Order: sequence, then structure tokens, then C-alpha cells
Amino acid sequence: MRNLDQRNQIIEYSLKLNSTNLSPLRSGNISLRGKENNVEGYLITPSGKKYETLKPEDIVFMGLNEDEKKVSNNKPSSEWRFHRDIYSNKKEAQAIVHAHSPHATAVSSHGKPIPSFHYMIALAGGDDIKCAEYATFGTEELSKNVIKALENRSACLMSNHGQVAFGKNLEDAFELAQEIENICHQYTIALKLGQPKILSFEEMKKVLDKTKNYKKG
Ligand SMILES: [Zn+2]
Repeated sequence: MRNLDQRNQIIEYSLKLNSTNLSPLRSGNISLRGKENNVEGYLITPSGKKYETLKPEDIVFMGLNEDEKKVSNNKPSSEWRFHRDIYSNKKEAQAIVHAHSPHATAVSSHGKPIPSFHYMIALAGGDDIKCAEYATFGTEELSKNVIKALENRSACLMSNHGQVAFGKNLEDAFELAQEIENICHQYTIALKLGQPKILSFEEMKKVLDKTKNYKKG
């Protein structure tokens, strides 16, 4: 089978979505940039299947210029549009993790960016984590909103929905999604105590410079 290693990796991380509680039951989805018959595209989890039942052949390959209608056997996740658009817009994105993780989803329901209450906000690439405006799941509009919230960022919240993170490989994207969940957990606790102190733009710039060097090293 084509891309067997990549398909198995997607299954491994889909199971981790459940086992780490990053995305319970059938929620969330995972993809990896890939090629099939010289067509540039991505491999993505199918729609509506329980992760524990996934087999390599269930993972769907989609071309970057392809839409759902041309895919015959398995249906791709209903969220394939924003996966496709992230791969088209972000050359550095090699893997994407979308999760309905509990704290990120709770924070997303406020529809606001997360300010720099903690310096680790820099992990998403800037001095805040944006929240994509709400649109119905699976729509072109939602995809547009996600791309906007990901400008100069590698992760964002999705209003009243969850979060999405990308990385240079699946391990990287998954870890970032876990970090976002952790940050949102901390943020919900901080908000219970009142308004947290926010780090200045100058301080966050220092942190961002350091993180860049750290990533290079
Ligand atoms: Zn979703």
C-alpha cells in the first residue's frame, strides 16, 4: 500500500488523541503532508470512524487541488478544507493536529485571543494565540477564518469548537497541540483568580527571539 508508514503514523497519533484525552471519542482529526502518483497532497483521518478501529486503508489521500467529490471509497474528515488550506498556505506545515481538547475548547467559546499571561504563549509563534471566528464545521468560511488566525502563528483556537496546531512532523504538531491545551488549562485557572498580569510586548519579543534561537539549536 502507498504511504504505509505515514498511514500507520496517523493511526498511532489518532489513538494518542484519545489516550491523552486531547480529543475524546471521534472528535478531532490528524493529517500529514504527502504525495501519491506525483500529486501533492495530504493523508487525513476518515470521517466518522472510531480511532481504535482504524486500518491503514481507512486513511484518505487528498490532492491539494482535489475536493471531496472525487474521493471514492472512504470519506475524509469533514474538516479536510482547513487541512488543505493550511498545507497550501504554509510551506513549513508538514503535519496538522485538530483537537476538541477540553480547556482549549472552553477558552475558545469566549471567541477572544489568549494574551501573554505566560511566556509559553510564544510557542504558537507570537505574543498571543488568536481565536478563529466561528463558522459551521467543514465550511469554506471556517477554513478562511482559521487561515486568518494562523497568520504568523503555528497554532490557534477555533471559536466554540477547539484548536488546531501544525508542525514540521506529527510529533511536533501533536506536542504543540498538547502545549496549547496546557496553556488553556492554566489560563482558565488564572481567570478564576481575576484578571492576570499580562507580559509586555517588549518582554514577549525577547522571549520570541530566545525561542527562535532555541529552535535553531
Ligand atoms: Zn472539529
